Amino acid sequence: MPAITVSRRQALLGTATVAAAAALSGLPPSRTLARAPFAAAQAPYYYRFAHGKMQATVVSDGILPLGDPSGTFLGTSKEEIGKMLTDNFLSTASVVLEQNILVLNTGDRLVLFDTGMGSSQLFGPTPGKMLANLKAAGIDPKDIDAVVATHAHCDHVWGIMSDDGSRNFPNAQIYISQADFDYWTDEAKLAIKEPAFMNAFIAGARKNLLPNRDRLVFVKDGQEFLPGIQAISAPGHTVGHTIYMITSDGKTLAAIGDLTHHQVLLLEKPRIEFAFDTDPKQSANTRVRILDMLAANRIPLIAYHFPWPGVGHVAKQGDGFRYYPTPLQMVLDQKG
Ligand SMILES: [Zn+2]
Repeated sequence: MPAITVSRRQALLGTATVAAAAALSGLPPSRTLARAPFAAAQAPYYYRFAHGKMQATVVSDGILPLGDPSGTFLGTSKEEIGKMLTDNFLSTASVVLEQNILVLNTGDRLVLFDTGMGSSQLFGPTPGKMLANLKAAGIDPKDIDAVVATHAHCDHVWGIMSDDGSRNFPNAQIYISQADFDYWTDEAKLAIKEPAFMNAFIAGARKNLLPNRDRLVFVKDGQEFLPGIQAISAPGHTVGHTIYMITSDGKTLAAIGDLTHHQVLLLEKPRIEFAFDTDPKQSANTRVRILDMLAANRIPLIAYHFPWPGVGHVAKQGDGFRYYPTPLQMVLDQKG
């Protein structure tokens, strides 16, 4: 029975190999191999990097699943959107946006850029993680000196107030454009039926901004309103949408908020329109103009909705742009 002989030889060889490996590893040959259970927890949802003499911590509020992209990214065909996603190995079933909240330690202040969705379930149960992730990062909300908002949409200002009416950042001054404050807290707009999200957006902005009327500071285009932090008006997504240029030790980082919501769709074809834009044409013009400037000057950016943690560069590519994520720096004092 030669087959059995071969099989037996293989078995013996196998045993010998295991024994030899065990001898090399110093483990007894009879040791039973353990099976590790799958872990239930993901890695921490915060990330630190140096920016000049400042320290940046990106803290997530969790993901925003937008569903079928053809309902959100407009002005082109469903087929083209599908091809762009497929060519970039992304799902065509649902577009998922991150919420990358920047916490900047300037050396004498802690500045938080945007605040996530709060407890709202408007986009399902995944958002609302900002406070837990701040805690995980060792940042006490009481130590935040400034909350800087890019605009007054739900995923940016709804984390200012807690549901019990208390302030999540009790010691913070709040910075936003007056145009966005006026537009999104306007009581008359509560009656607007189209688009359907309008009523909720107005109500949420009022809930989070109006109780802070006494601590609001309106930022102006071009103004350096905190040392090293300059407001640049970037209207279109909302009337007062503002990005922030953060400069330290000769280095500038752009916190671009919602200048672009997607690292492929709104970069490769930056004139595609986004359903939540107040003025989609103005938004596209602003996007192209500012991305051109960032690309030409090789200025790094943090994009609120790009894949975690949203830090990288954009470069010109064809009629649009391409995103180059910065490699994660796992040594904090790593240079360049
Ligand atoms: Zn947003």
